[in-house]
Amino acid sequence: MKVMKFGGTSVGKPERMQQVAKLITTGEEPKIVVLSALSGTTNALVSIGDALAKGDKQLAKQKIDGLAAHYDVFVKDLLKKDATLKKGEAIIAEHFDFLNIILKISFNEALNKDILAQGELMSTKLFSTYLEEKGIDHALLPALDFMQIDTNDEPYFDAIRVKLNRILQLHAGKKLFVTQGYICRNSKGEVDNLKRGGSDYSASLIAAAVKASVCEIWTDIDGMHNNDPRIVATTKPVVQLSFEEAAELAYFGAKILHPTCIWPAQQEKVPVKLLNTMQPEAPGTTITEDAGSEGVKAVAAKDGIIAIKIKSSRMLLAYGFLRKIFEVFEKYKTAIDMVTTSEVAVSVTIDNDAHLTHILKELEPFGTVVADKDQTIVSIVGNQIAKTPDVLMKLFDSLSAVPVRMVSYGGSSHNISVLVPSAFKTKTLQLLNKGVFGLE
Ligand code: ASP
Ligand code: MG
Repeated sequence: MKVMKFGGTSVGKPERMQQVAKLITTGEEPKIVVLSALSGTTNALVSIGDALAKGDKQLAKQKIDGLAAHYDVFVKDLLKKDATLKKGEAIIAEHFDFLNIILKISFNEALNKDILAQGELMSTKLFSTYLEEKGIDHALLPALDFMQIDTNDEPYFDAIRVKLNRILQLHAGKKLFVTQGYICRNSKGEVDNLKRGGSDYSASLIAAAVKASVCEIWTDIDGMHNNDPRIVATTKPVVQLSFEEAAELAYFGAKILHPTCIWPAQQEKVPVKLLNTMQPEAPGTTITEDAGSEGVKAVAAKDGIIAIKIKSSRMLLAYGFLRKIFEVFEKYKTAIDMVTTSEVAVSVTIDNDAHLTHILKELEPFGTVVADKDQTIVSIVGNQIAKTPDVLMKLFDSLSAVPVRMVSYGGSSHNISVLVPSAFKTKTLQLLNKGVFGLE
């Protein structure tokens, strides 16, 4: 079994959806196709929910009508036979009727999750109708029947595995399945989701649950690149990455892959491939247990970082100091990304400022506390970079004109991270592209 996930832009236009139908009908191996919502839809659904949360029904109605108009055109371009076009129009009508009914009832968070689910429900039903028009045999599997999160809102993997495999057994002989990414049920049985960008996570969970031969993530770029193509002029795709390298790159800002989506595939050793719908022959990036080669592979940047420094002479020769500091962050469920220490000070970074005021207040008894906002973590990721002799030298040579605030090295053998003011991010990525990767 092979899992193929297509993102919003890969299904965002009728001709793209038709192209996806071609991609999934090559080869003999059975496939589970996981789809996102059409590009722009989830954003529109979020704004409908936001308008309703503010009680602005008029704005919500306007946005619903705008989205409905988009789907009206889409469905007419996608489906050409009378019977399937009627079916497609009925699908659109059903989902927009639902959104319009929500306008009339009192809004709550559970209802918001129902709103957010409409995008994937529509994209998969429309795609299934297109396959039907083309006479392509398949089964549409509702993700809400098997995709589940637990009381901590984390995927309940064992339940997903058991339920999905049971459903697949009911369809013995079928070779093609289509299902929704992103959406799931929570521990209360309500409709929920795996958070924005979560379709990659769905695909990886499904691939792990069925022990797929490969989990293909199809987007509109030919794999993970060595640097951010929006910022530097020349980038190149990275052919092979280990799961650890990919997880670090995704976590530290590479937009192509959702950071959480690595672990399920890694757990079941399912290779993940990042492929390009527009250029299906391109090799893309393969992610397996094997890093393929040693040395630096790519650099990624994560914005919105806050650096917090706690300075105290009481830290000198004291033990238990770090624990007390970390406990403050734990109490406020705030994850720490980077840590550096000296004998009298410790600096940490966080990316979530929801509880910043409380955290700073509770740190005060430990020493002088300073918080710097608008920082960016730039991570250089590779295999055994600690062993690659000149990486550190090249890194520091390249960044001599950048005010580096923190450096983290040695935490793993595949990452060096530096913290720079966000105003220096572009410059940092450009300098590293030249100094470390030898590209312009
Ligand atoms: N449609 C959802 C989003 O835009 C999930 C996804 O595309 O991965 O966040
Ligand atoms: Mg995505």
